[in-house]
Amino acid sequence: MTRIAITGAAGRMGRVLIQAVDAAEGAEVGAAIVRHDDPMLGLDAGAIAGLGKDLGIRAVASLSEVADQFDVLIDFTTPAVTLANLSFCQQHGKCIVIGTTGFSDDEKISLADCATQTGVVFAPNYSVGVNLCLNLLRMAARVMGEDSDIEIIEMHHRHKVDAPSGTALRMGEVVAETMGWDLNEVACYGREGQTGARPHQQIGFETIRGGDVVGDHTVMFASDGERVEVTHKAQSRMTFARGAVRSALWITDQKAGLYDMQDVLGF
Ligand code: NAD
Repeated sequence: MTRIAITGAAGRMGRVLIQAVDAAEGAEVGAAIVRHDDPMLGLDAGAIAGLGKDLGIRAVASLSEVADQFDVLIDFTTPAVTLANLSFCQQHGKCIVIGTTGFSDDEKISLADCATQTGVVFAPNYSVGVNLCLNLLRMAARVMGEDSDIEIIEMHHRHKVDAPSGTALRMGEVVAETMGWDLNEVACYGREGQTGARPHQQIGFETIRGGDVVGDHTVMFASDGERVEVTHKAQSRMTFARGAVRSALWITDQKAGLYDMQDVLGF
């Protein structure tokens, strides 16, 4: 049985992650970590997730209190918290599955540098469908990229704090890599005013925020006379949670290093 700790356990993803671990074969909730000032501190993880039963796991405020109670940490929090937790996991020989988005380029470099002692899975999106879309995008970029204008549109709920989404950026990276472009040079984040004509070698990003949308992404290849759109719509956070739990079970059998969801799915 793989014991999984969940940090950010009281958050939108954290609560669904507790449900997903509880429902998964071969996994159990080993620990639940919340902020020191969270009203859920001290409550049972089952109550936090609304499971209608206790799991015998009381939410604590620091990983060091539960270091011997888990094998893998699933972390969907904030970049600074995740980097500190990654460092803890490396020091204590624990694997970690990272779902947090919004890392700066420097933070991504320190994350990769740190992922040397144990297994780390880091993906901006743990849904099977989005990871399939990444492969479809490689094909679309190869076939249509030279003759198309490429635009990425994403919509999320009003509470999301980073933009564009980590998934939209990953989609942009995949398209740019396939085209032989550097995303930093070709990305255009929103437009207004006298923008001039659109250059061909550009990937446009548009961000929409509102309501309770779990996550919609469309990548558009617009050429003269036709348009291809690759669209993914997440309807439930459970799709991300199941993918993260699948990753947590997978990573315990891997060599130390940095992996993503494409590795977990064997793409
Ligand atoms: P949220 O704000 O609802 O939850 C984050 C939780 O982390 C909060 O409860 C907060 O109190 C807690 N937290 C902050 N500091 C902490 C600390 N030091 N110790 C313990 N807990 C702490 O946000 P959310 O919607 O659950 O999203 C969290 C992150 O996951 C975001 O970056 C989001 O973009 C990302 N996300 C990724 C995927 C994916 O598939 N990779 C899917 C959905 C969301």
